[in-house]
Amino acid sequence: MAFDSLSEKLQNVFKNLRSKGRLTEADVKAALREVKMALLEADVNFKVVKGFIKDVQERAIGQDVMNGLNPGQMVIKIVNEELIRLMGSETTEIKLQPGSAITVIMMAGLQGAGKTTTTAKLAGKFKLKGKKPLLVACDVYRPAAIKQLEINGEKQGVEVFSMGNKNKPADIAKAAMEHAAKNGNNIVILDTAGRLHIDEDMMAELQEIKEAVTVHQTILVVDAMTGQDAVNVASSFNDKIGIDGVIVTKLDGDTRGGAALSIKAVTGRPILYVGMGEKLSDLEQFYPDRMASRILGMGDVLSLIEKAGAELDEEKAKKMADKMKKAQFDFEDYLDSMEQMRKMGGLSSIMGMMPGMGNMAGKMPDLDSEESEKKMAQMEAMIFSMTPEERRNPDLLNPSRKHRIAKGAGVDIADVNRMVKQFNESRKMMKKLPGLMGGKGGKRGRF
Ligand code: GDP
Repeated sequence: MAFDSLSEKLQNVFKNLRSKGRLTEADVKAALREVKMALLEADVNFKVVKGFIKDVQERAIGQDVMNGLNPGQMVIKIVNEELIRLMGSETTEIKLQPGSAITVIMMAGLQGAGKTTTTAKLAGKFKLKGKKPLLVACDVYRPAAIKQLEINGEKQGVEVFSMGNKNKPADIAKAAMEHAAKNGNNIVILDTAGRLHIDEDMMAELQEIKEAVTVHQTILVVDAMTGQDAVNVASSFNDKIGIDGVIVTKLDGDTRGGAALSIKAVTGRPILYVGMGEKLSDLEQFYPDRMASRILGMGDVLSLIEKAGAELDEEKAKKMADKMKKAQFDFEDYLDSMEQMRKMGGLSSIMGMMPGMGNMAGKMPDLDSEESEKKMAQMEAMIFSMTPEERRNPDLLNPSRKHRIAKGAGVDIADVNRMVKQFNESRKMMKKLPGLMGGKGGKRGRF
């Protein structure tokens, strides 16, 4: 995850601060020097860091803090508040046209930033909100771009409008508007062509599109892995064509994350969403306060709860929790729980959001690896080879049944034995931990 190293460094600084009863001005200054180094190492823009430290220092050395009961905590609180402010304080929604009017969104960005992928991800979000988006293939240069958009559009169940690569992007956009009006689409998302670097042709083309159709929102997609460059790109685009917001992709990688911290301060434009993976569901709304608490290592419990709320089937989860409490968990439930975990983006994505677990998830790179995906698929194949009675009553599994299952799933009998053993152990553990799942009530109790 992005910010792991920054998070670790800040937590160390704060641990030292908290261990002191009283703070002198020199203590605060020394701590802030370390915060400054950590931010610079995370690739946060130099000017932004300077301003940030100045603001925190002014507040932290103020009377109230130094004379307060717990100065270490107060400094952390100030850093948290200033981090939130740096990222724009409020969550910014993409502004849609009122009523049934069509909102036109133009996606811009350099090649490889993740524009086409993000376009499809965004369409999925709108669809979930009951909108009827139309994706428009205006990238006529990159040979695979149109196909990529069509494939992703299909995956999202969203229509894609394309006219091949013989027409000008501005003409395609115009034709798409006519199509959208006839077709009842209320959001049109234009996937435009990127280039390897900022260049005049690209900007001119975006300008032409803007002249051909009324663009309500111009959204820039930047790649967090490019660090400071992402911020420079955002500035250039904003100066040349004007942008309304930014989506920062690839924050799931081991990027240092500085771009996400600098963009608002440098360009004045808010981050709308962040890309957290290659899958089409891996796009998260950007909450400055939650991001700050992630960075400070407080975990992002709120995001986790929301994710669970949106993607888990409440009814199923409750039933499962009941069964677990009574240790009646069977193979059908095992299948369900695997499915639900997958929906939430895998185990490491969940762990990254738990307080204090962020770093651990990074240290266990195998959690969502191909290897564990394979194991899960194998496990599913075995369960699918069971009869419904066997799934519901695992005690039926005698050696001859296990042989049949192994054959059906194309695995060794040893694999079946291992899985059944693992399953029995999980059941035993659940019996021992009655309070773990649903025992404390409320959503949190499920984790
Ligand atoms: P475009 O040239 O800007 O349209 O970029 P693409 O949409 O083709 O994306 C370039 C690459 O980045 C693809 O391999 C995507 O799967 C990948 N990508 C896009 N967004 C993310 C993200 O948030 N996380 C990760 N890990 N990969 C991403």
